[in-house]
Amino acid sequence: MTEQEINQLRDLRREISTTKKRILALQEEMKQLEDTIYSKCEHEWEKDLANVGEHTEYICLKCNLSKK
Ligand SMILES: [Zn+2]
Repeated sequence: MTEQEINQLRDLRREISTTKKRILALQEEMKQLEDTIYSKCEHEWEKDLANVGEHTEYICLKCNLSKK
């Protein structure tokens, strides 16, 4: 174990922490933009065949968002 290794580990932890915050900020930005697009789009719903689960999901052909 060297001082360099300890410093490297500390730097990695900082970078992960910074990156996580950045991801959260980007996710929030994306969510807001999706809300904006969702409210403006004149949706054209189609069954989402890629997501066949317990209930049928619909996805918009124009904005690619799922039906709420
Ligand atoms: Zn739409």
